[in-house]
Amino acid sequence: MKNLGIYVQVPFCQTKCTYCNFHTGVVAKDRFAPYVDAVCEEISEHRRLLKAARVELDETDGEKKDSQPWLCYGADTVYLGGGTPSLLEPRQLQRILETIRERFGAEIEEVTLEADPETVEQGKAAAWVAAGINRVSFGVQSFSDQELAAAGRMHRRVDVYRAAPILRRAGIRNISFDLIAGLPHQTKKSWKQSLEELIALQPEHVSVYLLEVDEGSRLGKELLIGGTRYSAGRVPSDDEMAEFYELAQEKLRVFGYRHYEISNWAKPGFESKHNLKYWKRGPYLGFGAGAHSFSGRQRWANAHDSAAYVSAMESGRLPLEQLESVTAEQALEEELFLGLRQLQGISVGRIEKEYGVSLSGRLRPLAAAGLLEREGDLVRLAERKLSVSNEVFVELMK
Ligand code: SF4
Repeated sequence: MKNLGIYVQVPFCQTKCTYCNFHTGVVAKDRFAPYVDAVCEEISEHRRLLKAARVELDETDGEKKDSQPWLCYGADTVYLGGGTPSLLEPRQLQRILETIRERFGAEIEEVTLEADPETVEQGKAAAWVAAGINRVSFGVQSFSDQELAAAGRMHRRVDVYRAAPILRRAGIRNISFDLIAGLPHQTKKSWKQSLEELIALQPEHVSVYLLEVDEGSRLGKELLIGGTRYSAGRVPSDDEMAEFYELAQEKLRVFGYRHYEISNWAKPGFESKHNLKYWKRGPYLGFGAGAHSFSGRQRWANAHDSAAYVSAMESGRLPLEQLESVTAEQALEEELFLGLRQLQGISVGRIEKEYGVSLSGRLRPLAAAGLLEREGDLVRLAERKLSVSNEVFVELMK
């Protein structure tokens, strides 16, 4: 893979969802401009900043025949994520994208914006398309107002029906809808309703996430110490969540979505090119507070605190919080963990050859337990075990 993915983190939200403990903040709009300045500076000056932060710049991305430094590759995907990047003014997003094109080439195939339904307006959507955004990842989460309200989301079902046609009319031909299985108050009936409403709106791509409640979130604390404010008592059980996931598998398959990654389904040709880079261990650069990067040899991350990030950038310094070289053992674990997230599976022969290891000792017991399936050189997670994939990964990494 010769092309970089570029990720830009926009760590601002309108409210804090009850289950979320991401490093995102609800801030006044006047914090946006200095943040965008800092991100553009980081993009423009990334070589100098990375070098000063001791990131190795002159390594290839793993294709050893090719002697080009990995940073010389142009970018072919951009992902504007968060937080809620659709909160930024369109001209701010446009400026970020122009800066990326100046540094990484104009031939960017896929430009994704994460957008929450309540932030979508006609003028904004037209400006997003004019800025080159051609894919929107739409944070629907549920079609039940009771579930949305309990989770602390700003939008309601009606906002999804208002916003989706606006995106279509503006010319977005690639929309991904996110749903969360396991929200408080969710039942099999309401989940089925959400799936059916989502399918009727015909997004090209669907992500289904099982609710993961961080202990530090408000819902997480309530789950631990009790209380009723965030409806912790109404969070579905793990078995119910697994059942919801399996219902999504079944319904999405019937309507022509290909299940290509544990949490992702797409109509043919609409798989997320950017996210595939993460699962295939392709190189990517992240810009902004808390953004992660991977060169093939090293992984690093910027400071999470957006104020600290802006202030470090204003003093001409990249605020790295982590920088680590990936050992051969870590790389192998990533190959297995990330590779098996993809439903096509992993090529055992390629990995054994590349890493000089034998995988049969690790894989055989899992295959014998029915957790993995083998077809020639390919090994993949058993389809009926996808809802408990975390347990399989724990076994695999032992
Ligand atoms: S919109 Fe996303 S990032 Fe923001 S609080 Fe909600 S879950 Fe967290």
